[in-house]
Amino acid sequence: METENTLSSSELLPSIRADGDQMRCSYMLPHKKRYCRMLVKAGRRFCGEHIVFDPQDQTRIVCPLDPKHTVYRTDLKDHLATKCNGRLPSDLWIQENVNVVPSEERLGESQNEKGPEDGRLNCSEEDTARVAKIIEEAYSKLAAEAISDACLKTEAIENFMEANENQNETHKKHLVQQSSIIGNLAARHLLNNQDDSCFIELGAGKAQLTYWLAKTIPNCRFLLIDRSGARNKYDNKAMQVS
Ligand SMILES: [Zn+2]
Ligand SMILES: [Zn+2]
Repeated sequence: METENTLSSSELLPSIRADGDQMRCSYMLPHKKRYCRMLVKAGRRFCGEHIVFDPQDQTRIVCPLDPKHTVYRTDLKDHLATKCNGRLPSDLWIQENVNVVPSEERLGESQNEKGPEDGRLNCSEEDTARVAKIIEEAYSKLAAEAISDACLKTEAIENFMEANENQNETHKKHLVQQSSIIGNLAARHLLNNQDDSCFIELGAGKAQLTYWLAKTIPNCRFLLIDRSGARNKYDNKAMQVS
């Protein structure tokens, strides 16, 4: 027979519900107007699913929207609704999953390997290997005909690298790449340094490319686009130089 203790005066902290010598979850299911029947561990008030409602729970969990940060389990709902930087902004121009291809339109998929109905890509290792092979073949075909290497340089970045030789390999790799991208833009006379030109950096990340561009052509305007808000990196520095 189930015995229920009355709720403690604070509704936030219901008392532990005993059912014989076992404890049951103290969460009141709003639609069913009864308590959750799940058993709970000794000393706990809520089952695993409802522990988010335990105001005393101090467990931190990885944020479901952005694995780079953690959040108190009890704050999760509030965090996801109003605080998390991984939230999709509700701006007019943002449409959730706009790039998701419905499964029936995806190429190269047989009937029995269709992904989830919402059209999210569900790439297996074999899929990835298959696509990598297609890209490599296309590249070697094109490279023979049309692609030539042009690793050009940008003076400001080369000077910086010379003066800062002990950069880590990843940073160095990015600098070499940015030096060449800006060098190639210059070689094609695309860096006019006029304020009616706007450079849009898609997937700007830390905005290091824009930083060096702004040093090279400070009169131009810059628009940085990235899916996550990695702000306050090179973007701020870029604003100072332009
Ligand atoms: Zn429960
Ligand atoms: Zn978050």
